[in-house]
Amino acid sequence: MALYSEKVMDHFNNPRNVGVIEDADGVGEVGNAKCGDIMKIYLKIDGDIISDVKFKTFGCGSAIASSSMATELIKGKPLSQALELTNKAVAEALDGLPAHKMHCSVLAEEAIRSAIKDYYDKNGIEYDKTRFPDPHEEEEHHFEDD
Ligand SMILES: [Zn+2]
Repeated sequence: MALYSEKVMDHFNNPRNVGVIEDADGVGEVGNAKCGDIMKIYLKIDGDIISDVKFKTFGCGSAIASSSMATELIKGKPLSQALELTNKAVAEALDGLPAHKMHCSVLAEEAIRSAIKDYYDKNGIEYDKTRFPDPHEEEEHHFEDD
């Protein structure tokens, strides 16, 4: 049964950019209670460009594949573009995720935002706070399959 696309399997079996950046400019850590996934992302920022990115994910296969794909999508890109990365874009780049695993791809998006916010905070850079909503306030999902 092909529940997962070949790309998901590839990124799960052979994840890109796994590891830690010791002198990272921004670090973001998020978790989700549903699968118990925890994701930590490290960014090295050069001017406005993400020159390097590494991640560690303690999580399910979809969370690992999503973080791997997300790091590939933001590496070498300006911060403004990384902030626009959505979990939908990550899932599309993976040729789709099963509906009940979409929440795992949200983690990658949130971890990247949180790492960029960390960078802004550490460097006293002004930013539009409305672009960084508290993730806990957004948890009011309705579960259609309940
Ligand atoms: Zn998960």
